[in-house]
Amino acid sequence: MVAETKLYDVLGVSPNATDSEIKKAYRKLALKYHPDKNPSEEAAEKFKEASSAYEVLSDPEKRDLYDQFGSQGLNGGAGGMGGGFGFGEDIFSQFFGGAGAQRTRGPQRGRDIRHEIKVTLEELYKGKTSKLALNKQILCKTCEGRGGKKGAVKKCSSCNGQGIKFVTRQMGPMIQRFQTECDVCHGSGDIINEKDKCKTCNGKKVDHERKILEVHVNPGMRNGEKVVFKGEADQAPDVIPGDVVFVIHELPHKLFQRSGDNLIYHAEIDLLTALAGGSFMIPHVSGDWLKVDIVAGEVIAPDSHKVIDGKGMPIPKYGGFGNLIIKFSVKFPGNHFTDEDTLKKLEDILPKRPELPKVPADVHVEECVLSEYDSSKYESRGSGRAGQSYDSDDEGHAHGGEGVQCASQ
Ligand SMILES: [Zn+2]
Ligand SMILES: [Zn+2]
Repeated sequence: MVAETKLYDVLGVSPNATDSEIKKAYRKLALKYHPDKNPSEEAAEKFKEASSAYEVLSDPEKRDLYDQFGSQGLNGGAGGMGGGFGFGEDIFSQFFGGAGAQRTRGPQRGRDIRHEIKVTLEELYKGKTSKLALNKQILCKTCEGRGGKKGAVKKCSSCNGQGIKFVTRQMGPMIQRFQTECDVCHGSGDIINEKDKCKTCNGKKVDHERKILEVHVNPGMRNGEKVVFKGEADQAPDVIPGDVVFVIHELPHKLFQRSGDNLIYHAEIDLLTALAGGSFMIPHVSGDWLKVDIVAGEVIAPDSHKVIDGKGMPIPKYGGFGNLIIKFSVKFPGNHFTDEDTLKKLEDILPKRPELPKVPADVHVEECVLSEYDSSKYESRGSGRAGQSYDSDDEGHAHGGEGVQCASQ
């Protein structure tokens, strides 16, 4: 459920759209309305709108805020949400590589290191700090990444300092162009006399270091959310180090499912409690147990839902908690109802049976009796013998009492 759908409508996707669906939708609109392709004023407006929508919906954090609080969540209050809307051009070039030429110049950016961090729902509720050791490549501290004494390092003239060479080779009718490591400098791009080489790294310019990173998993963080350590990935000469990115992986829980900030709990209660009230206990992810009272006369129907306010997950940034949604099932007693006294009492207590519908005069009525339902016989899909088709979405729902055997009417 989302607070507002306007941005989704702009892109023409549903609020459940996946990232790639959103990307596709934006790309389509951008191609249609980009000022280069379509100079009309209306197109410019549309392009701006689509770009603003995409700017929000392509960013998991902003999308989350928008889903929860609508456009208000993006404008005010949200700390650190600088900028706002409308940098269409930026996104466009990101998307279609308009700024590609700039990217090849200047120092390269190193690869990010991604690491999944598995956390239980309990840990996401309370938050936790994980210490993780990272064995990373760093620039040699002795020579500051030069590989040798200052002034002793010369650019390799064979490859012009690139470390690579291009070689062409004839293969049958084709001429292929290969990129190979420079054989003079062995890919380093420079030449250092043996005696001037840095003793620590032996001219390799890099070293290794073990670093401990403290990853703070904040209460209420979500599956897929990232904790980023900027520039903590491997260092290398002439490279801007990438980031170390920890991605939260929420482990499934035995009793609770999570839905955004809310928790869902499946409670099975007995028939007497459902009809006449009583209590049941929930071992909550907070570590506390919740004693839940069903008020006498409330009557809990099977498959009905109730809510306990404020017992969901903590809400990061805004504070407070989501809610706990309880889905009820009612466990019916087994064969307690076979003696006639009890049955008589039930007749007195419960509402009267509804009347059977009137059968048209020309219809034949056949008497049928229920037999036991053997799930192995009816639920193994593809057997064909059962003669019943089950919707694949319906997996796991054993609808009792469907095994009515009855001749055709
Ligand atoms: Zn060194
Ligand atoms: Zn070279």
